[in-house]
Amino acid sequence: MSTDTNPQDPRRTAELAQRLSAVRQRILDAARQRDEQRAHGGELPSLVVVTKFFPAADVLRLRELGVRAVGENKDQEAGPKAAEVARALHAQEPPVSPPVWHFVGQLQSNKAKHVVRYASWVHSVDRASLVTALGRAVRSHRDAVAAGETAPGPCAESDLTCLVQVNLDPEASAHDTRGGAHPDAVADLARAVAGTEGLQLGGVMAVAPREGDPRAAFEKLWEISQHLQREYPRARVVSAGMSGDLEAAVAAGATHVRIGSDVLGPRPAVR
Ligand SMILES: *Cc1c(COP(=O)(O)O)cnc(C)c1O
Repeated sequence: MSTDTNPQDPRRTAELAQRLSAVRQRILDAARQRDEQRAHGGELPSLVVVTKFFPAADVLRLRELGVRAVGENKDQEAGPKAAEVARALHAQEPPVSPPVWHFVGQLQSNKAKHVVRYASWVHSVDRASLVTALGRAVRSHRDAVAAGETAPGPCAESDLTCLVQVNLDPEASAHDTRGGAHPDAVADLARAVAGTEGLQLGGVMAVAPREGDPRAAFEKLWEISQHLQREYPRARVVSAGMSGDLEAAVAAGATHVRIGSDVLGPRPAVR
């Protein structure tokens, strides 16, 4: 966690503002280049700021700076943080709506019921058992809300947006913990998501392989997405690109980039 947890600290807010505007400019520049090359689709990619390792105070600052989407990769950290952010924003006068929480990390099925209490999106759907668990979790959350047993989370009213995470280097991944389904398994997983009550198929997500050219890997993701969209025209999300490969991802047609350290600063080495 950052040592600075005072939400009022104006220096931290100024630092985040500066880093955030640099990242937004990079997205604009990369999208302009993409459009000049008429490579991929015309939209400005959406920014998801990944706030893992950083405190709720930083999420509140980012919210104030206009960030609407934040990402987390561990439920133990994200759950309490989302609750703290929601309380603080609700207490403001007038109340400010909470950010949209994107869960981007590997997810154990037994955590699904926690994640659906705060997340609107899960980027890391990579196996059928997780699809089943997420669907069940959304439906039982809705039952609990209807029974007055719990406060409504975002998927009380809207379906949970699920992205199928693709492993772009399946041969090299015996020791890789980045997760993701084999490209050949994407169609079946997409069908499972689309056929599950409470879930909506948003598209695909990937993390660039450790080795090789990220642009080439992201082009492969784009092709998988194009293929998927023939069957599911609304599943248009391509979530790709982190601090180190944002430009490559946008060039290859990313609709969403997930940026952590270039907005928040270097992560502490140990948690
Ligand atoms: C941490 C994380 C990011 C952001 O990474 P940075 O390199 O800090 O920008 C993006 N996606 C996933 C899945 C992550 O876990």
